[in-house]
Amino acid sequence: MLSAPCPPDEAIRQRALDDLELLDTPAELYLDTLVRLTRELFRVDSVLISLIDRDRQWFKARIGLEVAQTPRDISFCGHAVAARSPLVVEDARLDPRFADNPLVTAAPFIRFYAGQPLYSLSEQPIGTLCLLHSQPRALTPEEGLRLRDLATLVEGYLHLRTLGQQAQMLRQAVSREQRKALIDPLTQLWNRAGLQQFYAREQAAAGEQGLQLALIYCDLDHFKRVNDQFGHAGGDQVLWQSARRMSAALRPNDLLVRLGGEEFIALVSVHDAGELQRIAERMRQTLGGTPMSVGQHSLSVTASLGTAIAAAGEAQAALLERADSALYLAKQQGRDRTVHANHPH
Ligand code: GH3
Ligand code: MG
Ligand code: MG
Repeated sequence: MLSAPCPPDEAIRQRALDDLELLDTPAELYLDTLVRLTRELFRVDSVLISLIDRDRQWFKARIGLEVAQTPRDISFCGHAVAARSPLVVEDARLDPRFADNPLVTAAPFIRFYAGQPLYSLSEQPIGTLCLLHSQPRALTPEEGLRLRDLATLVEGYLHLRTLGQQAQMLRQAVSREQRKALIDPLTQLWNRAGLQQFYAREQAAAGEQGLQLALIYCDLDHFKRVNDQFGHAGGDQVLWQSARRMSAALRPNDLLVRLGGEEFIALVSVHDAGELQRIAERMRQTLGGTPMSVGQHSLSVTASLGTAIAAAGEAQAALLERADSALYLAKQQGRDRTVHANHPH
């Protein structure tokens, strides 16, 4: 096996990647959507947006692959990045660079690989948009152009993203090392510590904009049955898909958190209770509106939601407790519904 070579201007390249504040950040709706459509277009097992970091490749977006990262030296994408050119491997077993690569000899048993480098604004190759398939196949010239077009869309999004509010917030609020501890690896959402980290900041930001901070507490209904029917791994897939659906129902600056288990929190800023209700209902309907697929099976997932608007200066724990009480009522009243908490007395 030939390890992915190190580009000559590696320090500059790494710096360009670090400056994007992309590594160890939560999944983002637009990129999730793009990899999903790309997989449908090319009919391959997996599509990744892979970032080549110091000693690993880390996936900013992925579909069809369960792991969040792999070592850099066994990565296919590292080769495309080092060469600054697209890489197509029709059958990895026949390619001496990859034939004995553990990604070929074991899961995910890569046979076909096509990777299009992604460039920073400073023209540094930071990673790839890539296709993986467990059967050998070719990439037609037209498909190669299509992949390049899709990579252009990814780059465009990444460039615009650096100007956005969320990225600036991240840069100011937490270092990359801190950030790693704030991400839930299963769903690639912020975790409970992330909620604690960002609550005060979100509260202040809402106040500055004349908005009210609110919390939506969402608990999947009868999730134990999902585990019973499809096993823990099947349950994990449902959690991943649920996270993607909920984030599709939110706005770009809303903060979605996996609190633990099958419980999620959205921290949103709203004008009034009506707006909060509409967002919560959109979450509920996006989650349960169409069945999810687990392997060959499909199942309907519903959730119960409790919402609460923060009183002036209300602490996170108190707001969470009120939303949790509303959620409890939603469960009691028959699940698959939203209940709004009254203002505290
Ligand atoms: P309810 O409608 O009352 O919320 O019923 P429920 O079954 O969803 O509620 P309960 O809280 O009793 O069960 C949650 C289950 O979630 C129990 C636990 O096994 C499962 N769970 C927690 N974390 C994970 C996880 O990371 N992966 C998977 N697959 N299951 C998990
Ligand atoms: Mg629960
Ligand atoms: Mg539940």
